[in-house]
Amino acid sequence: MDDDKLERIAANDTAELMPEVVEVLKEEIERRGLGEGLLAGVETMADGGPAEEEVELFVKRLKSVPCPECGAKGKDNSGIIVRSVMSFILLTTYSAQPKVCCPDCAKRKKLNALIKTVLLGWWGIPVGLFRTPLSLWQTYRDSKQKEGQSEGILLTYVMKDYGYLRAEWGSDEGISQIVRHRNDNPEA
Ligand SMILES: [Zn+2]
Repeated sequence: MDDDKLERIAANDTAELMPEVVEVLKEEIERRGLGEGLLAGVETMADGGPAEEEVELFVKRLKSVPCPECGAKGKDNSGIIVRSVMSFILLTTYSAQPKVCCPDCAKRKKLNALIKTVLLGWWGIPVGLFRTPLSLWQTYRDSKQKEGQSEGILLTYVMKDYGYLRAEWGSDEGISQIVRHRNDNPEA
């Protein structure tokens, strides 16, 4: 197993592993020198996960680091969902991607997705015809529940990358990069 894969398991999946496997994982991390932060993260996740206050602290941190998309500093990052529909006659693709970024990036991404959907969504039969208004309505609904949605997305980011975030706790840039990676790979 390569270091990347081991790190990924340590950062993402520890809560689901059996205790014996967690021990092996910890030994491997130590043996390969992958870092104290990752090790501490594994221990916390194996122990039932971080306390609520710690999660809140992480969420705050995600809001305050440089924007993961444009690098702007001192803007309040939030979690958004970028929805778009694109059709080409019989083929319709629909996507709803979570992102954590600054207000400017959020506005730009949402506007781009909206324009794309309005221009390109309809031309699919029959899925596009039905998906496009649904997506536009969902985008509208998102705008009415911005804050709750943002908190939910930030929380998901913290839980998914807890180990990595903890390992990079001292570095704003490091945390921003982890979030950027999650923006680009929401399913990983
Ligand atoms: Zn930005």
